[in-house]
Amino acid sequence: PELERLGVHESVELVFPPSELAEFLSDLPVDVAVIDDDEIDSCDAVVTLEHRDAFLELEWVHSIQAGVDRFPFEEFEERGVLLTNSTGIHDRWVGETVASYLLAFARRLHRHVANQQERRWERPEWDDGFTLPGTTACVVGTGTLGSGVAEVLGSLGVRITGVRRSGDPVEGFEEVYASEDLLEAVADADFVIVTIPLTEATHHMFDAEVFDAMADDAYLVNVGRGPVVDEPALIDALETDSLAGAALDVFETEPLPEESPLWEMEEVIVSPHCAAFSEDYYRAVGDLVRENVDRAERGESFHNRVV
Ligand code: NAD
Repeated sequence: PELERLGVHESVELVFPPSELAEFLSDLPVDVAVIDDDEIDSCDAVVTLEHRDAFLELEWVHSIQAGVDRFPFEEFEERGVLLTNSTGIHDRWVGETVASYLLAFARRLHRHVANQQERRWERPEWDDGFTLPGTTACVVGTGTLGSGVAEVLGSLGVRITGVRRSGDPVEGFEEVYASEDLLEAVADADFVIVTIPLTEATHHMFDAEVFDAMADDAYLVNVGRGPVVDEPALIDALETDSLAGAALDVFETEPLPEESPLWEMEEVIVSPHCAAFSEDYYRAVGDLVRENVDRAERGESFHNRVV
């Protein structure tokens, strides 16, 4: 595409200040400006968090997230609008977040923090604490997130197994199962970690049957997308002690509604869809955008193209 003006849509401010990205990209050979909804039509391309119908008039839309389930792919295709995403940058950030959930469960940090809020001096039961070496994490999805999680947890001595559609081996994973063998894959894991995108095939992939197949003392971690997990079935499994706990960054409804029982469960860690937040986020997105502006100049096909 011929690019003259690139807008940084104000919706990115949920993740970083739009002006930081615009400034970072100010040396590009195209005009870069922070824009609101009224200025979309002044651009050929936008960098954005949210979708707007007005984007369908543009040449190119770049999502600052890896997950692009909110964008209407067919309409992009029909209108000939390019869509690119930000996969490839979140490995270490999300990997460290997942490691911090696991360390919290093992070393009981979430309980200490909860007790501290109440000024309560309360030691865990003698057999509540454990250590990570020798535990097994089954990472479902072996892409950027899954590999980052495998790397960080592997360095803490956790044995890593994985699930991907083909079941073919992946570096960093001791054993890889095919998606159709999910029940077998989760059965001997202490932690099941969801790092897959939301698609028609993955919607409610984690349901009562999967929670039944997991050990009663296993934990579920979801850093993929909320609807990949059947949330009422998860709540049921947690309430009936057929799972030990869960760390959840994403939910079927976000923000998580105030009345959700997940807020108050002792063995549940809730984070507000921020597993990948980092002060470096805008630079990593900026590098992806710069790469594709360069490619556009050279007439090459785009990196991370989704549509
Ligand atoms: P990626 O494309 O690198 O990896 C996704 C992996 O999932 C791929 O290997 C793909 O083959 C696999 N996959 C897809 N469908 C599958 C299925 N049915 N069964 C098994 N595997 C399947 O993407 P990524 O950068 O790793 O991001 C993955 C998802 O994580 C994103 O789509 C997004 O929804 C989510 N995400 C969340 C956060 C957060 O802040 N919580 C941050 C980044 C990404």
